[in-house]
Amino acid sequence: MPLRLYNTLSGKVEDFHPIDANRVRMYACGPTVYDYGHIGNFRTFIAVDLLYRFLRQSGYDVRYVMNITDVDDKIIRNAARDGVTVQQYTAKFTQAFLEDSAILNIEKPLLVRATEHIDEMADFIAQLEKKGFAYRTDDGSYYFRIAKFPAYGKLSKKDFAGMTDGARVDVDEYEKDSARDFALWKAPKPGEAFWETAIGPGRPGWHIECSVMSMEELGPSFDLHAGGEDLIFPHHENEIAQSESLSGQQLAHDWFHVRFLLVEGQKMSKSFGNFFTLRDLVLRGHKPSSIRWLLTQVPYRNQLNFTFDGLKSAASSVEKLRNFRFRLTSTQFAAGSNPAITQLAGETAARITSALNDDLNTAEAQGAIFDMLRKANTALDADEVHNDDAKALLATLEKFDEIFSVLKDDDQPKMKSILDWARAEGTEKAKEISPELLEIAGSTQLSDEQINQKLSEMEAARKSRNFKASDALRKELTDAGIIVENTKDGVRWRRK
Ligand code: AMP
Ligand code: ZN
Repeated sequence: MPLRLYNTLSGKVEDFHPIDANRVRMYACGPTVYDYGHIGNFRTFIAVDLLYRFLRQSGYDVRYVMNITDVDDKIIRNAARDGVTVQQYTAKFTQAFLEDSAILNIEKPLLVRATEHIDEMADFIAQLEKKGFAYRTDDGSYYFRIAKFPAYGKLSKKDFAGMTDGARVDVDEYEKDSARDFALWKAPKPGEAFWETAIGPGRPGWHIECSVMSMEELGPSFDLHAGGEDLIFPHHENEIAQSESLSGQQLAHDWFHVRFLLVEGQKMSKSFGNFFTLRDLVLRGHKPSSIRWLLTQVPYRNQLNFTFDGLKSAASSVEKLRNFRFRLTSTQFAAGSNPAITQLAGETAARITSALNDDLNTAEAQGAIFDMLRKANTALDADEVHNDDAKALLATLEKFDEIFSVLKDDDQPKMKSILDWARAEGTEKAKEISPELLEIAGSTQLSDEQINQKLSEMEAARKSRNFKASDALRKELTDAGIIVENTKDGVRWRRK
């Protein structure tokens, strides 16, 4: 079965066929770096990360480009307010975005920055003007003339018949039914940053950067264009208008949009007190792996409601998966195989692939892995798993994790990095550090060798019946976040 994806442009779920047989070219709208990324942003970035990982697992060679919007109305305003340059203002949040993405195991796309493409944008606008799609106003701003592009509205399915030719809007984000000529280039305003270019001084509107950078990196026509659902109009509609009027070609074949995240049943908003950045959640002691898991639990087009109860159960799901893998890797199995178990592993891998082929049905894929886990655990309890079966189960688990990426036991150092950041930010931030975070991230880190050394000392103490010493060593390990278990195959350990 081929991959099937919902395409906002056609309004249907369609078979996905790249333009070039084995190569996929995709573009995602990245963050506007005026603040720390919130969990809504990361729902979208993780959904696109899953798509990227699954395309590669399916055998495609993927070129994945993401932009960083490091100039827009808000950034210019905030930089002027703080008395710093645009670059100084955005550097900190760009860095934070890269760190947060790494913490959430989001694979790094090819990143392109708006401010590094200002001259190309000016050139693009000059070409649009030459073709009659753009015009200059008296103050030196440029606008796109939407009356010249009859297909305007084809992505958002808006009917703009009867619009007034020449009515203009110059803010980056505007009302959802606004049929207005939009700004391509804004003349300088007193006290605000601007660039000197071939079309005069000023700064780009928000939409032009994505047209310029996507076409520069991927060509005039490419396979996939992604973003959150709020970008359908006006941002993506405007990208299509700019790019297609210039190139005469279809910009992207598939438009992939991720549904907005709700928090505790409501739209996320600072005024409702339900607005969370990734860092806010880690400061409260939540693990990045639980957050990543929760954000993938509902397929990208369905409503996902983020709740703290949900986060707790996500943590327990990840824990179960890690325990299962631990069990498979630390038990001594008898040689040979039990065909029923090998078959279970193979069927589960196939179920996961077909769920993801079905418009990235992540819930179904997760259901499949837990079905396998339950059945395999029962078989493990009954000593019915042999060496070859354990390998097959592990292979399925690893394949699942190539997409979901929660098995690696590295929450502790990641949380420690947020703890260090909060302390460095000063007393206000440091106040938000929770006892839960301190318990997980603040514990001393022991190396594998140190742990093994302590375990053998513990064993020796136990053998010589010095239980006081062996208990003290065990407590030392537990305090350092190490779980120690005695099994029939000897002592096993792992990090919490
Ligand atoms: P921004 O930094 O505001 O430009 O947004 C970066 C990405 O996050 C865009 O693709 C947005 O569509 C997406 N996004 C913003 N808010 C949410 C939300 N609540 N749920 C899902 N995606 C969002
Ligand atoms: Zn964009």
